[in-house]
Order: sequence, then structure tokens, then C-alpha cells
Amino acid sequence: MTTHHCGAHSHASENHHDHSHAPSPEKLAAASSEKVAECPVMEGTLVIKAEAEQAGLYREYQGKRYWLCCEGCGPLFDASPEEYAHSG
Ligand SMILES: [Zn+2]
Repeated sequence: MTTHHCGAHSHASENHHDHSHAPSPEKLAAASSEKVAECPVMEGTLVIKAEAEQAGLYREYQGKRYWLCCEGCGPLFDASPEEYAHSG
């Protein structure tokens, strides 16, 4: 018996900007949660803080620092930081 459900995967979030990279699973496993942040623009995308800072992919907003997953997120964050910087 095979129960076959047609799982149509939707990658809807991929069209807002080009997003071809992600931290490798090994890197994320090695990095503690203190070293990893979630990209405020691409929610659910983890960012290694040190790497983001080296690449200039972070923003300071209202005294808080936000780490971005890629260059595409910089202008998006700059355009409406108050929208992305919803802190808890
Ligand atoms: Zn991004």
C-alpha cells in the first residue's frame, strides 16, 4: 500500500530577492545559538553573526543590532527598518 499525497512544495519566499546561499549545516551545528541570529528580513533564515559582520551584513537600529543573511536584505531592511525590527 502506498499512500501517495501530492506535496506541492511552494517556494513562495524565494522571489522577493535572489537567495542562492545559506550557511552550511555543519557551520550552523558548530555555532552556538549565541553566535547565530535570525535574519529579520528573511525570517527563518539563520545568520552566523561573525560572518555577517565581516561581510558588513548587519544594521544598527534603535540601539539593537540586526544581522542579515545576504546583501539583498540590506536595502530591504534600510527601506523599512521599523517593519523588520519588531523585537518581541
Ligand atoms: Zn537575504
